[in-house]
Amino acid sequence: MEFDLSWILLGLPVAFVLGWLASRFDIRQLRDESRRAPKAYFKGLNFLLNEQQDQAIDAFIEAVQNDPDTTELHFALGNLFRRRGEYNRAVRVHEHLLSRGDLGRADRDRAQHALALDFLKAGLLDHAEEALRRLEGTPFEAQARIALLAIYERSRDWPQAMAITQKMQAAHQGDFSARQAHFLCEQALGKSAQGDIDGARALFEQAVQTAPQAARARIELARLKQRMGQPQEALDTLLELAEVAPAWLPLAAALMVELSLSTGQGAKVLELLRQRYDLMPSLDLLDGIVALDTALASTPNPREWYVRHLEHEPSLVAAAKWLHDETLEHEQFHPQVQRSLDQAAKPLTRYRCAACGFEARQHFWQCPGCQAWDSYPARRVEEL
Ligand SMILES: [Zn+2]
Repeated sequence: MEFDLSWILLGLPVAFVLGWLASRFDIRQLRDESRRAPKAYFKGLNFLLNEQQDQAIDAFIEAVQNDPDTTELHFALGNLFRRRGEYNRAVRVHEHLLSRGDLGRADRDRAQHALALDFLKAGLLDHAEEALRRLEGTPFEAQARIALLAIYERSRDWPQAMAITQKMQAAHQGDFSARQAHFLCEQALGKSAQGDIDGARALFEQAVQTAPQAARARIELARLKQRMGQPQEALDTLLELAEVAPAWLPLAAALMVELSLSTGQGAKVLELLRQRYDLMPSLDLLDGIVALDTALASTPNPREWYVRHLEHEPSLVAAAKWLHDETLEHEQFHPQVQRSLDQAAKPLTRYRCAACGFEARQHFWQCPGCQAWDSYPARRVEEL
């Protein structure tokens, strides 16, 4: 076949023109893109990366003014305001986004969530609750429910807290039965304080059914029954507690001793406390044993239990308790020595939150420091 040079002569200019057109197209596209992402945006981003938030905000405000339809810039600006604690401005940005008719579903949900966070951070719980409720049925639903639960717990709105955990449980967001039992106990204590003993009892019983392994409801129920003049029923409730949740028995030991003596079952309870003490040498169980042994006069020197405790558990608390009723060779100095020992031992008898370390003289079911439930073990600081 004869090679025709005229094809090359004709083809080269065509290829050149096509290439030139293609390059023009690319350049125009790039120019469009750079116009869509204004300079101020990059300036803002740069400030943000350099952790210069003030300058970043100024740059973003400029960018938003140049192009009021930009969604991402609004989100960036809103989050910046919130992080800096300028909640009013954050709310305004997110409310502006929500008021826009052209916003897609996903961005609308995102703006609603951001608005809820603004209110939460600002401590405007009423507004936060309303904003969070609007997130039902959105991808933020699970997060919103957790935040709502925290609001209801903080405001001690137990029926609402109960309702939201029921929803979460139904949606397989976790097992909330132990917490629900606490909500019922809180409501029951409220009723009991108002004098509605029957109402309180019904709620405590419901709490026991909701979380049979949870200790609080049984201990509170036993206290209530004692108040109602039913020591036998109260003791039975605590005997159940010893079966289902023995780790919490130290919290009920003193009440158990009192009830066993008033129902003539001291020996039976003493035996139970000794068994539990062998498994878990707790100071409260030890106190219970000494109290019962003393009341029943079942051993010549009940306080020897403290010395026996010291043989395997070095304990300033037990040592101070033992010394208290001893007669020293220089007895005239005993009060000063005892006072010093008691003072040193006092902080060791506190309870400590396992979540945040907050210490308190009394045991809390919900930590006043970090709001965690069941974070205080039934053991004193010295035993931890
Ligand atoms: Zn705590």
